[in-house]
Amino acid sequence: MIVLGIEGTAWNLSASLVEENGVIHEVSSPYLPQTGGIHPRDAAQHFSNNIGYVIRELLSKIELHEIRAIAFSQGPGLGPCLRIVATAARALSLRLKVPLIGVNHCIAHIEIERWKTNLTDPVVLYISGANSQVLSYRAGRYRILGETLDIGIGNAIDKFARSVGLQHPGGPKVERLAQKSNNYIAMPYVVKGMDFSFSGIMTAAKEALSHESLEDVCYSFQETAFAMLVEVTERALSQTGKSEALLAGGVGVNKRIQEMLQMMCEERGAQFFAPRPEYMTDNGTMIAYTGMIMLKSGIETPIGLSGVNPGFRPDEVEVNWITE
Ligand code: AMP
Ligand code: MG
Repeated sequence: MIVLGIEGTAWNLSASLVEENGVIHEVSSPYLPQTGGIHPRDAAQHFSNNIGYVIRELLSKIELHEIRAIAFSQGPGLGPCLRIVATAARALSLRLKVPLIGVNHCIAHIEIERWKTNLTDPVVLYISGANSQVLSYRAGRYRILGETLDIGIGNAIDKFARSVGLQHPGGPKVERLAQKSNNYIAMPYVVKGMDFSFSGIMTAAKEALSHESLEDVCYSFQETAFAMLVEVTERALSQTGKSEALLAGGVGVNKRIQEMLQMMCEERGAQFFAPRPEYMTDNGTMIAYTGMIMLKSGIETPIGLSGVNPGFRPDEVEVNWITE
């Protein structure tokens, strides 16, 4: 069974062909803004300019009749980007006469990692640009146990980085600067129950720069924000009684958050896993793979219900491919 999947929620236009045993081929065309952050219209223009090439490249790797379904990222994400991808997916589905499958991007992040690791029932810390959530499966859905009350951790770091003149995406640059310091400056630590917030720390970090070095501010930003995320992940492990923690999303590439989660899990006797970076950041393979397991469990998206959903929450999806 071969499924073609297309990801395109924000910055990475990426399409992939997946079969049960692995990935056949992935083609990506990432959008990198020269100045500022991700502008939805510019990103969508980039997607529109490159989707033809991406799909043609992919289709040259197999015979068209081998494709059993077309999966696409239906949300959450930037509306203009999602619409380009959905339009291409609908056209392919109609042309090849195969089912269409709308995939929730957050769930795809989780499923590809369950595929690539041996974890079966983890608590997931999903941290990317726009999203920051702690999730776990229970009774037919991925439940959101905790989440950001304002912006995602990636956006907070990227916005701070832009304010000091670092080019988007700021995450990797802030990580490198943070590695040069171990001088901690107090920053607002905001955890409310199982939820957290990052806008205060972003403002405090910008203000601290008037009297502290950039390296110290980057270090303190990361230490504070990551400690908040690890605290909530630990409480989620405790409250669910689960013993596996999984890190997902682009910010998960950061070595310091991996180290902090590893320490927390060791202290609790839990298993921790962070997959390879290419499966943590947005990629077409995660959409194709999730489309495949959805198709196998009988899920298809009729064209009439294939509209994009920029605010698509993972707990809206009935997860009938996991049996308890
Ligand atoms: P995603 O949308 O899941 O691909 O994640 C994108 C986000 O990951 C952006 O906000 C990046 O700045 C962030 N990111 C990528 N690499 C790192 C890193 N090494 N440390 C922190 N954030 C990162
Ligand atoms: Mg993502």
